[in-house]
Amino acid sequence: MSIVLIRQDGKIGIWQKAFQDQYPDLPVYHFEEEHPKEEITMAIVWKHPHGSLSPYPNLRCIASFGAGVDFIFEDPERPPDVAITRVVDDALAEDMSEYVLTAIMGHLKNTSQYVKDQFRGMWSPKPYSRISDHTIGIMGIGTLGTHLAKDLRNIGFKVIGWSKNPKALEGIPVYHGAESRKEFLSKSSVLVCLLPLTPETREILNRDTLNLLPMGGYLINVARGGHLKEEDLIPLLDSGHLSGACLDVFAEEPLPKEHPFWDHPLIQITPHVASVSDPASVVPQLAENYLRLSRGEELRNRIDLQQGY
Ligand code: NAP
Repeated sequence: MSIVLIRQDGKIGIWQKAFQDQYPDLPVYHFEEEHPKEEITMAIVWKHPHGSLSPYPNLRCIASFGAGVDFIFEDPERPPDVAITRVVDDALAEDMSEYVLTAIMGHLKNTSQYVKDQFRGMWSPKPYSRISDHTIGIMGIGTLGTHLAKDLRNIGFKVIGWSKNPKALEGIPVYHGAESRKEFLSKSSVLVCLLPLTPETREILNRDTLNLLPMGGYLINVARGGHLKEEDLIPLLDSGHLSGACLDVFAEEPLPKEHPFWDHPLIQITPHVASVSDPASVVPQLAENYLRLSRGEELRNRIDLQQGY
């Protein structure tokens, strides 16, 4: 039994070293090195090349290096019955919370606008809003969304959530299902998308849904680029219906140089960095699942293969 690591973003060496430092006895291979394919039972992947899971006849677990698993389902050559797991990590949730809080406060106090003004030599005071003026709507109130909701509520925001199934959270009204989406959106002066990307949620942020936000609404998308129908955003900003957007994720990453989002004055862009898996924090749970697999025990943080998240 062995593990193979598959990713192409230049970070595989850091992860291999983290496994060696923390679990020197575990057999962990780099997918581009020579390794015994029939021994591999667990593949740990991040945006792996399609088809790269095919050489492993004894694969029993595909583990995502991160919280999302959409890229695994997008591989048409994925062995369909093999278990999929994902990362659930306090540090990841904390980092996401801090990023979203930064984006919200930047919107309330116009700091991202002032950075743009500074580069144009413009002295242009703008009206600002306060925490008490806003209701933050968290679309997808799961592991990351719940952590964020509690942090925002603790500093005085009104917070509401939207999930697939009914959910009870103290002090945070949670709407659920398609029937209540309209009411949820109409109350969200800032909308934060933290949904998993599935066939049901693809392009859920579009002209029709974003038009339901109150006038001057603000969008923060930290989930996946595929949630936003990109061509619908700029008309909503230009008409004044939305006052701005902070986007960390895009349909194509890196965002192409010629993309109209780069130059739009009301769009703030970050390069998919809202919350990044930290090897020191995440390797223990990946190793634990490998050991559980070896012992025939139930895997942790398993994905429902039917639901896709
Ligand atoms: P999670 O725990 O699985 O939570 C997902 C939430 O979305 C749940 O509340 C779920 O409802 C809800 N949901 C799913 N499908 C829905 C639907 N069709 N209608 C309404 N609600 C639906 O996921 P998580 O750990 O919080 O992570 C969320 C996503 O964040 C990940 O999938 C990933 O793509 C993204 N992410 C981005 C970054 C970044 O750096 N930008 C970092 C980490 C994660 P139920 O509670 O009813 O199941």
